[in-house]
Amino acid sequence: MSENQVDEKIEQKLYSDDNLDVSIYKCPNCGGEAVFEPKEQKLKCLYCGGLFEIGNLATTKERDLDELLSEGQVWDEADVYQCKTCGAKEIISSGEVSHKCSFCGTSNIVKSEELPGIKPQGITPFKIDKFGASASAVKWAKKKFYAPRAFKKSVKAEKIQGLYNPVFTFDALTQNLYNGKLGKRYTKHVYRDGKMVPVQEVRYFNISGYQEVTFDDLLVQASNAIPAQFINQIAPFPTKEAVEYRTEFIRGYGASTYNKSGKECWEECKSLMHRRIESQILKRYDYDIKVALNIDTKYLNEQYKYILVPVYVGHYNFKGKLYNFYVNGYNGKVGGKTPVSKLKIFFTVLLVLIGIASIFLLVEFT
Ligand SMILES: [Zn+2]
Ligand SMILES: [Zn+2]
Repeated sequence: MSENQVDEKIEQKLYSDDNLDVSIYKCPNCGGEAVFEPKEQKLKCLYCGGLFEIGNLATTKERDLDELLSEGQVWDEADVYQCKTCGAKEIISSGEVSHKCSFCGTSNIVKSEELPGIKPQGITPFKIDKFGASASAVKWAKKKFYAPRAFKKSVKAEKIQGLYNPVFTFDALTQNLYNGKLGKRYTKHVYRDGKMVPVQEVRYFNISGYQEVTFDDLLVQASNAIPAQFINQIAPFPTKEAVEYRTEFIRGYGASTYNKSGKECWEECKSLMHRRIESQILKRYDYDIKVALNIDTKYLNEQYKYILVPVYVGHYNFKGKLYNFYVNGYNGKVGGKTPVSKLKIFFTVLLVLIGIASIFLLVEFT
């Protein structure tokens, strides 16, 4: 990164001082705005480059699930903004005004009346910076054979923005009583028309038993701003390393608002657990067909964490359509959809057809 790039970044972030009401985000040296710096895990002044410690970082502790439904602490040092261009909602720490929409990159964002809701109890701070994230995204884009060249060239740090994503993680010990019916295929030889012939048969058998399955930090997204399929592509997030939430970590970043309640997320988590319990039970048997499996699950020691995980959101406009890609802000994994070049597909299909035609000709005339 050149000096010029740094200066440019600083220029973009300049804003008038009278909006700053929270003095702890001011640089003690020059009074400038400080934002979170992932590489140093410290606050960094955008004017003089000074670095400041964020204080002691305790690991977040799980809470009992009973508390999930009770009112949490209100998140009052942040505001909700909405993008007038694409509609995305974003939580930004109070007093920070120079912000662009993470999803479409426009500055067309306005403060909304909506409240940020419940304050997250923990946060996994960004570990890699914008430049590291864009380097990963460039590598990813280059591997996308059908993506247009213009897209691959457009993946740049300026088009990437850090956005924290709210998630719930759940722990539980499950005790499962089960019964069911499975089938196993086998080959039987029967005497038919004067000779022995093999016949496929299924042997059915009943199962029943007890299985304990423990879950630790099972992740459920509380926001649907980033589609679940893409979050899965860039997972995992080191939720075990989440520290207690502090607003310093979101300085210079946004956070998505949540649109699923803790209760809804717990229900979603239970169906995730159910699928895993089922596969654990079935692993015990040698079978080919599942006829029935009933599981009676008892949940114990249920605990949760409501935390923010780091994602860089990249945007790209291609033929009037907005495409987003996502980079895990901790390990640099990239996911998302790229536009597709129709020309490249056309030539691939053409090549395949020529290939088939030549094989046909070879077979025919040799
Ligand atoms: Zn400073
Ligand atoms: Zn937008």
